[in-house]
Formats: sequence, structure tokens, C-alpha cells
Amino acid sequence: MSSPGPARIRVTASPGGAGGDTKARELSALNELARIASLDLELLPMVQRITDALASHFHWELVALVTTNPDGEAYTCQALTTSLPTDVHIGYSRPLGTGVVGEVAETKRAVLIDDVREHPNFADMTPGVLSEICVPIMHNDSLVAVLNIESTQLGAFSGQLALLTTIADQIAGAIAGASRYEELEQRARLMEMMSEVSRDALEATNLDDFLRRVVDYVHARFPLEIVSIRLYDRDHNEYVRAADAGKRVAGAADRWPVSEGIIGRCIRTGRTQIVPDVRTDPEYIPAGDDVTAELVVPIRSRNELLGVFNLESSVAGVFTPANVMAFEAFADQIAGALRLLRTNDELVEAKAGLQSANERLTSMVEKFEQLSAHDGLTELHNRLHFDKLFPVEWRRAARTHTPLSVLVADIDWFKDYNDAYGHRAGDECLRRVAHCIRDTVHRAGDIVARYGGEEFAVLLPNTDLQSARHLAETIRQRVLDLGIAHPAPSGRPLTISIGVATCMPRGDERNSGALIDAADKALYRAKRAGRNRVVCAD
Ligand code: GH3
Ligand code: MG
Ligand code: MG
Repeated sequence: MSSPGPARIRVTASPGGAGGDTKARELSALNELARIASLDLELLPMVQRITDALASHFHWELVALVTTNPDGEAYTCQALTTSLPTDVHIGYSRPLGTGVVGEVAETKRAVLIDDVREHPNFADMTPGVLSEICVPIMHNDSLVAVLNIESTQLGAFSGQLALLTTIADQIAGAIAGASRYEELEQRARLMEMMSEVSRDALEATNLDDFLRRVVDYVHARFPLEIVSIRLYDRDHNEYVRAADAGKRVAGAADRWPVSEGIIGRCIRTGRTQIVPDVRTDPEYIPAGDDVTAELVVPIRSRNELLGVFNLESSVAGVFTPANVMAFEAFADQIAGALRLLRTNDELVEAKAGLQSANERLTSMVEKFEQLSAHDGLTELHNRLHFDKLFPVEWRRAARTHTPLSVLVADIDWFKDYNDAYGHRAGDECLRRVAHCIRDTVHRAGDIVARYGGEEFAVLLPNTDLQSARHLAETIRQRVLDLGIAHPAPSGRPLTISIGVATCMPRGDERNSGALIDAADKALYRAKRAGRNRVVCAD
């Protein structure tokens, strides 16, 4: 705070020809005022010290400092120093425009009365008073107070208007400084609360948690019956219960249309609602007998109304301009947190969405791989997969010096089967034969695949020709044993023919094709030899 320096002190010589003593007294009084202004930080104790100092320096009998009330309709005595018995006291208040003080407060012009009995506005509060001087204390062109001095002597203040004007000037500076200090202090308190709420916001794990912390915090620090937060549901044009502290009315709903209540009005208008007496507000929804005042502050983020901060109190004067400012600051804080936590929730949601999309993709890829490796009709490996695995097994056999065998099986006279029973029966028959082959081949590394229309290939790692032939024979027999009726004139059931080839792989897999070719040739020979048989390559 800057204190008024000596440069502010203007001393005007009294026209009455004041002697050296008077002048020294005036200077010393002004110095005292400057000192008080720089030492006293709080307004009320400071103005009291000022009236004390003036009374003692100038031996004035009654010195009062009066301010106009915030409503502008009355004035109140804030400081008083007097040696006279009087009805005036600190806190004494009377309507503006009455009395000399009221006149000065209204006209903002000093009044000097040498004989009060001749002044129409004089209010006789102090017996024996005969003269009075009353000067406005102005700061930045507005009235901040009125200095009133009274005396039991006639014309006691004659010629002292200039001095009093200087003193008033001095007091104006002191009051402005103290007000700034109070404002700063109030702001510091507010900042402290804000930072506490911010800290809470950071600790909150989710939105509900944070909102509950805010209402609890405010409820604990202000004389309020109810502190609540309602969020605005734009889609339904309703407001929704989000957090409550204090009294909760039993059975109260959880959502309300915006056409209802003072909260609804706040949402509809987007403006802070201050209701000093809820009983006179037809839109008030009663929350308890002891609630007398309500304040509803919009929670707004970038022009979007997110909800309201609602405060209800049984103490009529709690919603002072300073408190309203504090609650508006809280609402801003809530808006910031809502934005932050919503973004966070959105991130979490987006992450979860991404994760489930990933999982779907992974399972689709797996399914796709499964599909691309398998034949849809018989569920055996398809030819693509067989061709992929064959060189791998070839290289493994070459490395381990183990024999590799291949069977190529083909259903006999399958065209006739289809022709006789239809394609769907043909499909079913293919499935039965496929599963019969698959179930007969059971070593871990063996691979059974549908190689063509009604053709199957079996890859048998580490299997010599004799074992391969034996397995092929078992397969042929088991298919025969299925007893699938075939339209052949012989009446014999459905059969298959199998060609077998074995080799000891050497070198790279480029030679692997020859093994399949050899099995194919053996199959052809089996067909030529009358079908339903196994033929081994040479
Ligand atoms: P062969 O003993 O000489 O093998 O006589 P075939 O009739 O079995 O031989 P061919 O090659 O003349 O006919 C094969 C038949 O297999 C023709 C085709 O309709 C049938 N076929 C191939 N794939 C499928 C299939 O997926 N489903 C059905 N139902 N039939 C198939
Ligand atoms: Mg065939
Ligand atoms: Mg064929």
C-alpha cells in the first residue's frame, strides 16, 4: 500500500490570520494523519484514530466520521470522538438528506455553520452545540465519507474551511489506502480458498469425487444450510443432482425441468441469481423452513453452460458482494475441473474404445488367418496352408535326415455320386470322408489338407514308405467301412484311391514338388488299376 507522502499535504493559511502556533498545530495534525494512514491498515480502527487525533490536536469537542450505506439510502457513523454527552454513537444511522451530514453527503459540498440555530437542516443530537462544520471526503470524484465537527462555541470553525478541506483530502487518501488493503486481503483469502479447491481437484479421482469435495469445502467455511451442484442435461433440458452438502430434503427428485426453481431460472437466463428472501420468490422450491436466502451461480465453460452452483442460507446477509464474488470464482474453478476431468474421462473412454477396437481387430485377424488356412467345407487345412507348410517340413526332414512321406487321396467316381444324389449330398459326403482321414491320422506333426475338389493330401514327417503305405491302407479301409451308398452298378459303397510317395529330402525345398508329383502319379496308377486301392511310387 502506498502511503500518502508529504507532497500531499497542502496547508492553506487560515484567512483569519492564524498565528505561528496555530500553523504549527495544523502542520503537526496533518503529519499525524499521514502517519496514521501509513501505519493503520484496517479501515475502521484507522478512521477512529483519525477522529481521535483531530479532536486532541485541535481541542474539538465532537469529531465524527460518517459513511453512506451501500444501498445509498442512509448514512452511518463509523468513528466518533467527543467530550460532549450526545445521542450519536458509532453505528448511528439516519436517512440520507436529513441533517447537515445528509445534506453534505447529497450535495458533496462543505457546509460551515457559525450558529446552528439559524440552519434549517441542523439535527439537534448533542445538547449545547452551537456551531458545526461538515466537509465531504472525496476520492476519485466520489464521496467516501463525511467529516463532521461540532462545537458548543458560536463560530468556532469560522475561517477554517480551507484547513478542513485539506484534512478531508488527507483522510480520503488514508481511506482509499485502507480499502485497497481490505480488498487485497479479501482477494488473498479468496485466492487461498481457490488454491485449496484446485489442490482438491488434482487429488480427485473422478468428477463425482471432485464435486463432492467442493460442496463439502464450501459448506464447512460459510454459514450455509445447503451447498449443491447441479449439472445441465442439454438433451433433456433438465438439471441433474451432481453433489450435495448440508441438508438434503428427503424424497427430493434427482432431476428437474429447467422451467422449475431458481436454479432453472439461472440456467434459463445464464445469470447469477441472488434471492435475499426466498419467501417472496414464487419460483423458489422449498428446501427447508430455515432457508431464507438463495444464491445460484452459473457454471460456465467457454460460453457453454455446464450447470449451477447453488447455495442456500438461513443467514440473510451471507450473500455480500464479496461472497458472491467468491462463489462465482468457485463456479469458475468447478468449470475448469469439469473441463479437465471430462477431457480425462473422454480420454479414458477413447482409450477403452480403442482397446476394444484393437481386440476386435485381433480376433478378426485370427479368424481371418484361421479362415485363410482352412477349408470352409471340411474344416481341414486348405491347399494354401499345405503348400506353405510343405517346404518347412521338407527342410526340417533334410536337417534331421528323416524320411518324409506324402499321400494323395481321391474319391472314386465322385461325379456319379453328385449326379445321383445332388451336390449337397456330395458336400456332406466330402465332409465325412475328410473327417475319416483326419481322425485316422493322429501323429502330432501330420498335416491333412483338402488339396482339390474331392482330393486330399496328407503330409507325414519322419515316416518311411512302409508306415505311409500302412496308414494309407487304413484310411482306404475306413472310408470303405463308412458304407456310404454309391450309385455304382456293383452296389459297392463309396471308396477312395490313394497314391503314396516317400523320400529322404536333401538340399533345398525346390525339389519338394517332385514328391507330390510322384504321389500323384501313383494315385493315377491306382485309378487305372481299378480304384479303391493304395499304390506306392517306385
Ligand atoms: P475318379 O474316380 O476318376 O476320380 O472319378 P471322379 O468322378 O471322382 O472324377 P472327376 O474328376 O470326373 O470328378 C470329380 C467330381 O468331384 C466332380 C465334381 O463335381 C466333384 N466335386 C469336386 N469338388 C466338389 C465339392 O466341393 N462338392 C461336391 N459336391 N462335389 C465336388
Ligand atoms: Mg475322383
Ligand atoms: Mg479328382
